[in-house]
Amino acid sequence: MTTNVRVRFAPSPTGHLHLGSARSAMFNWLFARHHGGINLLRVEDTDVLRSTPEFLASQLRSLEWLGLMPDEPLVYQMSRVQEHHKAAHQLMEKDLAYPCFCPPRAADDVVHDLEEGIGNKYSGACRNKAYTPQDLQQPHALRFKVPSNLETVTFDDLILGTIKVAADQIDDFIIIRRDGTPIYNFCVVVDDIFMQITHVIRGQDHISNTPKQVVLYQALGATLPQFAHIPPYFGADRRKDEQA
Ligand code: GLU
Repeated sequence: MTTNVRVRFAPSPTGHLHLGSARSAMFNWLFARHHGGINLLRVEDTDVLRSTPEFLASQLRSLEWLGLMPDEPLVYQMSRVQEHHKAAHQLMEKDLAYPCFCPPRAADDVVHDLEEGIGNKYSGACRNKAYTPQDLQQPHALRFKVPSNLETVTFDDLILGTIKVAADQIDDFIIIRRDGTPIYNFCVVVDDIFMQITHVIRGQDHISNTPKQVVLYQALGATLPQFAHIPPYFGADRRKDEQA
């Protein structure tokens, strides 16, 4: 049976493979095999400070040992940075992204937890500021412009059911940092669209990122994949970080 199911496991090579990650890889592999689909591997190496070739080699060894290697060549996220920039500029042309010249804030890099309301919201200082091509020579980040008429972000999760988040919980988040590196929530969407991923199967620790990703899919005019957020795996000591 051949279907169009395409899934991916997308580890960051910033450590050895954890059991929880190995479990996500296994669910993706099993789902692909069950549906006669394609299982892919994307190396999320945009965190250049913490990603190392040694950790990547170690993760690949673990995946190979587990028999979970992908059906197509690896995709390295860093090799696609130009594509991330291209997508960000498309959003700017549609007035769905804008340059932000505000001084950088540590909070922009913090993963906002929408349910618990952790994280500071951006003031919106640059949201409606006119800018010229010369202004773009100054250091700036690019922010997504959450459409002002958006009230709720809704998506169906194959495990958790329908999830609804009030749009005012999402501020104009950064998509490209001042140093030109793309933010996880942005490149993951651009790359999942490029890789034609039909089902995003990953840990529930990512559920708070999904509403931001959903608005990005909509802004980029792409069809949403099906999401399945699997419960966390804990070791006997309730820690998540056991190594495979
Ligand atoms: N690089 C992310 C991680 O290691 C993957 C997120 C995803 O699957 O979307 O947690």
